[in-house]
Amino acid sequence: MQQVNKQDIRKLSLQELEQYFESVGEKRFRARQVYEWLWSKSLKNFDDMTNLSKATREHLKENFDINHILVDQFQRSDDGTIKNAVKLFDDQIVESVLIPTSKRITACVSSQVGCSLDCNFCATARLKRMRNLNPDEIYDQVVAIQEEARLYFDRPLTNIVFMGMGEPLLNYQNVLAAIERVCSPTGLGISPRRITLSTVGIAKMIRKLADDGVRFNLALSLHSAINETRTRLMPINQTNTVEELADALKYWYSITKRKVTYEYVIWDGINDDERHARALAKFCKHIPSKVNIIQYNPIDEGEYRQASPEKVSLYLRILEDSGIVAKVRKSRGQDIDAACGQLANKIDW
Ligand code: SAH
Repeated sequence: MQQVNKQDIRKLSLQELEQYFESVGEKRFRARQVYEWLWSKSLKNFDDMTNLSKATREHLKENFDINHILVDQFQRSDDGTIKNAVKLFDDQIVESVLIPTSKRITACVSSQVGCSLDCNFCATARLKRMRNLNPDEIYDQVVAIQEEARLYFDRPLTNIVFMGMGEPLLNYQNVLAAIERVCSPTGLGISPRRITLSTVGIAKMIRKLADDGVRFNLALSLHSAINETRTRLMPINQTNTVEELADALKYWYSITKRKVTYEYVIWDGINDDERHARALAKFCKHIPSKVNIIQYNPIDEGEYRQASPEKVSLYLRILEDSGIVAKVRKSRGQDIDAACGQLANKIDW
């Protein structure tokens, strides 16, 4: 385990780093040099910062740590999907996934160690929330996947989704700070248009995203537009009802003018009837939106089963008749437990 008594240098902003350098009698511009080594070049130790004097490097080493993540376990699926189990400076583990398609390489990253929500179809929900990830720990997951994209696919990373472990809107500041670094020219220079934050649906925080003028995409894990069913699936719906979410989404759209994606699993005997499909179609009318129908990834022998193809077709027909764009998403990486909701399924905690 790395030492934790020194400060993690990547918790400092560029301005804070500049102030620090000035306070120790160093030139201000050194801060920018260090910042670039830390972020756009992702250096893991001070000795490699070759444009700094040896004395400066030693001084930094004495006062700071670079708490870099370590890819502790690497698994590759038959379909090309890669899952990284990532070790953090305090030995906690989170997972991130690389999803290749012919056109894209997507990084699916985690925002928390474990999760405090109790969506009862999700494996991550069985872990209690241990802690929030720091911005650099989120950023490093993207860097690790970017390196793997080049190494194994000879292509760059194209998209990032916050659909790994945890609820990004319950780690709001750090997730936004990580996205800011990912998008910055002094970071990875990735466009916010290629980033999607997926939330369980916390109305207040969706409004805050809009107020803060974010430029990335928003996805909402809806799974049912009927309160009774949604509460059964996702207890958070008790305090963030379908109506409250609709209001928050209208607010989001009025400010951002950005479409929202609804993620939706259709389960046998739970939400696979016409009433639920029509409720979804109605919900989709609130603001411009599209639906991703995700295949259910079994997490045990439990009560949830994927609905039949006929029921999925029923949904597609009803949505299409209402003029709503819906896509059925093939599950990826199931054989290595890297698919939606399977993260942490088999880790020995
Ligand atoms: N907390 C965020 C992001 C993590 S989950 C959120 O709730 O959106 C990413 C997506 O996987 C969500 O849409 C979630 O509902 C879905 N999911 C969870 N468990 C699943 C499972 N077993 N099969 C398919 N999708 C699942």
